[in-house]
Amino acid sequence: MMLQTTTAHAAARSRAHGPTAELWHAVELHRPAGELDGACELTVCGSLARVSLTQAWPVPARDVCPTCVALAR
Ligand SMILES: [Zn+2]
Repeated sequence: MMLQTTTAHAAARSRAHGPTAELWHAVELHRPAGELDGACELTVCGSLARVSLTQAWPVPARDVCPTCVALAR
């Protein structure tokens, strides 16, 4: 039997960095979401992004990090 672990994710917006455009990333929630608002957190794909509580994960946008989509669902 497979154990299914459900991890809550928050949506986080990365900054444009050189040739990399702004993207939505997923951040694993280990703390209450209220403590993360506006904080820079390590995303699922290993970059840093600012958590947004006005946007839930998964993000219904087109500019979403494909790595985070694959890893956080
Ligand atoms: Zn990502």
